[in-house]
Amino acid sequence: MRSIYLDHCATTPLDPKALEEMLPYTKEHFGNPSSAHAFGRRAKTAMEQARVRVANLIGADHTEIFFTSGGTESDNMALMGAAYAEQTSKNHIITSAIEHHAVLNTCKHLENNGFSVTYVPVDADGLVDPDSIKKSITPKTFLISIMHANNEIGSIEPISEIGLIARQNGIYMHTDAVQTVGKIPIDVDQLCVDMLSISGHKIYGPKGIGALYIRKGTRIAPLLYGGHQEGNLRNGTENVPGIVGLGKACEAAVGNLSLETNRLQKLRDELEKKIAQEIPNIRINGHATLRLPHICNVSFQSLLGDVLVRELDKMGVAVSAGSACTASSTYTSHVLAAIGVPPDLIKGTIRFSFGKGNTQEDLHDTINLLVDAVAALRGSTNLDNHNTYTKGCC
Ligand SMILES: *Cc1c(COP(=O)(O)O)cnc(C)c1O
Repeated sequence: MRSIYLDHCATTPLDPKALEEMLPYTKEHFGNPSSAHAFGRRAKTAMEQARVRVANLIGADHTEIFFTSGGTESDNMALMGAAYAEQTSKNHIITSAIEHHAVLNTCKHLENNGFSVTYVPVDADGLVDPDSIKKSITPKTFLISIMHANNEIGSIEPISEIGLIARQNGIYMHTDAVQTVGKIPIDVDQLCVDMLSISGHKIYGPKGIGALYIRKGTRIAPLLYGGHQEGNLRNGTENVPGIVGLGKACEAAVGNLSLETNRLQKLRDELEKKIAQEIPNIRINGHATLRLPHICNVSFQSLLGDVLVRELDKMGVAVSAGSACTASSTYTSHVLAAIGVPPDLIKGTIRFSFGKGNTQEDLHDTINLLVDAVAALRGSTNLDNHNTYTKGCC
């Protein structure tokens, strides 16, 4: 049985070129980048080269890139760092209802510690209305955090507009760009953001490494105290092999962006077209055009998403129900609820996410297997009506 990986939003395979560049830093070039001798300087040089590569991918200066342990830490650092640095009486944060839990649960923690948070709703396509952000601003607002694109449905938020609103009101703007960096073009000035979160393993880099872009002049307090690494903002000896791998992954993404985007979008669009043609009673979630090119989120009436995931897994196709982090809990998607998907359809939702390794052949095999699996699971219940609810690219 051939296996087909269609869960690139959960994680991606490590780019072999990234691994190749990392290996010497796990072996002979093991120095601590803070050391003054040749071993240390060698590690430091590699780390600084990686910093430049990360910065180049998002239009930042290398001095504005701070390495972290991943997307989760970057989100925590942005939100708590800005909150703890707030020396005045400001205590209000604006975010959205569909953020990743790395943002939502950090907001909950801050709410438990005297901060107040407004969770703006999204429309049926998963988009935040910049006007609702504007209306939520109070004299106490110091931070707006809206994700660049959603990890479940792929909708791309109007970050430039929201960033401009933030700037005009003297409020910091953070965006979780974990799903968009390396996938669609990003420029921190054009997006008008002060902080931006990056994760290595979502962009063919290693796991356990990420970065936070912090615009020069942004006041932020460290979460970890220690030996003055990363400008004293993220203390602890750096993960040099991870950093080297992240840098290489970012460099590889720069040259590849639009070609790969178009290729994946074609695969995704064909999948959605075929699903709409061949399977009744489905709904495709997310915005028709303002959506990441490689994500397809579909709700199937009269079946359970996690059962379909298991069924496809038996056939060698790896997809997820909702997002990866919540795969084994009884959680129902806050994202799908926020865009108004009815509860029975939320339970019947799976996400396909394409990536570098996927081919046309993968797509055709997946469609055939999916049609069979859905028919088998629905049994006779699919005979009553054949309404097809489709949104998006079908
Ligand atoms: C995966 C993900 C994260 C968490 O990143 P890790 O590196 O796994 O900690 C944060 N935000 C979004 C949108 C993600 O998809």
